This record gives sequence, structure tokens and C-alpha cells, in this order.
Amino acid sequence: MAQQDQMHRYLFENYAVRGELVNVSDTWREIIEGHDYPQPVQQLLGELLVATSLLTATLKFDGDITVQLQGDGPLSLAVINGNNRQEMRGVARTKGEIAEGSTLKEMVGNGYLVITIAPEQGERYQGVVGLEGDTIAACLEDYFMRSEQLPTRLFLRTGEVEGQAGAGGILLQVLPAQNTSTDDFSHLATLTETIKTAELITLPANEVLWRLYHQEEVTVYDPQDVVFKCTCSRERCGEVLKSLPQTEVDEIIEEDGEIDMHCDYCGSHYVYDAVDIAAIRNESASGNEQLH
Ligand SMILES: [Zn+2]
Repeated sequence: MAQQDQMHRYLFENYAVRGELVNVSDTWREIIEGHDYPQPVQQLLGELLVATSLLTATLKFDGDITVQLQGDGPLSLAVINGNNRQEMRGVARTKGEIAEGSTLKEMVGNGYLVITIAPEQGERYQGVVGLEGDTIAACLEDYFMRSEQLPTRLFLRTGEVEGQAGAGGILLQVLPAQNTSTDDFSHLATLTETIKTAELITLPANEVLWRLYHQEEVTVYDPQDVVFKCTCSRERCGEVLKSLPQTEVDEIIEEDGEIDMHCDYCGSHYVYDAVDIAAIRNESASGNEQLH
């Protein structure tokens, strides 16, 4: 039990199909702890986390992916952000009562899923899918079909395993520019669908893959650790402060003596007094001079 969070990539030798298997239980617990999220929101963040981890593992470059749910329901926002190093973070905001057992649609209302892919070098790309499917998995499968024309299946599993929150999942995707029959792909999907949360969370990856695909030839690659890590910093917060109207910032400093910037993702506080603010403005002023 309690293996460390890891991502395993694998390949079927006899089909042009690849797979990813991930356990993100520890990361999930770190994302939800310290927040008073209702149970369905915790569950949803778990699913989004598994999905984002699987999505970032499909990246062919250094960068990050943000998967965001927005709508007019009582859950106004749920977002997970992760990068190619599998450093993940996330947050949710509610503006109304969320009943036990609420469905995705009941929480989000009329809403959509926004997927933002931001390479470290190059242009960011944004895709939007309406919440036509009943699950996050169905919405993302739809997204892959539209954006990359690649048949993709996601199997997202969350729940309580041996008294602890557990989350994991599997992605199956047809390799680009190769022939895979629909029958072959659905055969592999049918095998994968049988995976249970407890198996995914408690068993070593090789054991899970053997249980699912013992009749198939599968190559498994070296795993990658998945970790909870926030990308906030004092420097980044300073950038945000700089972008706010000066008069507004000055008013807060005058009233409270300081500005307390709080990171929703990890709970960090960054406090700035009048001297700090002056220093930030000076930096940007000298930065501007260098441009001329
Ligand atoms: Zn943070």
C-alpha cells in the first residue's frame, strides 16, 4: 500500500496504441487538505487531477496544461494545473450549497471545460469543450477527437481505499499517423475498463498492467514521480502587484500598512509593506529605462 505517486507510460507491441497509468493519491490529498470542500467537489478535483496528469504526460515539449471547469452552477470554478515534470496544483471555488452526491452537471450548471496548453517556448493554445458528456472523461475524449483527431479513452478513478482518499487513472490513445482498427482499440478499451480504484491505488503498476493485459505484449517505460507543487513565488506575486492600479495599492497600504497576497492553491502568504512596494516600483522603473 501507499506507493508514491507515479506515472507509467506503456506501449502495446501489437497495436499502434499507447497507454499511461497514474496514481495521484498523495497529490490529491495535498490539494484538498486545508480547504473545506464539500465531498462532491473533492471528488471532482480528484478526477480533474488524474485527467490533467494524464494530459500533461502526452506533451511533447516542456510546458504546462491547465484544465478548468467553469459554469453558472454553485461550483463557479475548479482548476488543475500541471507541467511536464508532473508538478501539480489545483483549487476550487463555490458560491452556493453543494449537496452530497451532486453530479457534475448539478455542480457546474451550464458550463464548459477550458484546456490551456502553454509551452515554455512558443504560443499557448486554448481549447474549449461544452459539458455535453456526463463525465470529465467523456468531455476530454471529445476534446481529443476534435483537437487532435486521435481516438482517446480516459479511465478516471477516485474513492476511498483502505480508509484513505485514492485517485488514479489510465489513458489509451491511438498513435498518430498509424493504422489501428476501431475494433482493436475498443478491444483494448474493454480490457482497461475493468480496472477498479483499489487495484489502481494499491497494486504496483506492473501488476495492474498484467491483470488488464496478460494476453497482450506490453512494454512499460521508466516511471516519473508525480508531486504536489505550487509555482507561486514572492517574485510572481510582485508582478501581480505591479499590474494593479497604483492608487488602489496605495489606498490599501495607507489603511492596513501592508498588503497580504494569498495563494489559493497552496495557502502561502506574501506580505508587502510600503518599502516593499516602493522597491517593486523601482525595479520596474529601472527595467523600463534599460529598454530605451
Ligand atoms: Zn502557491
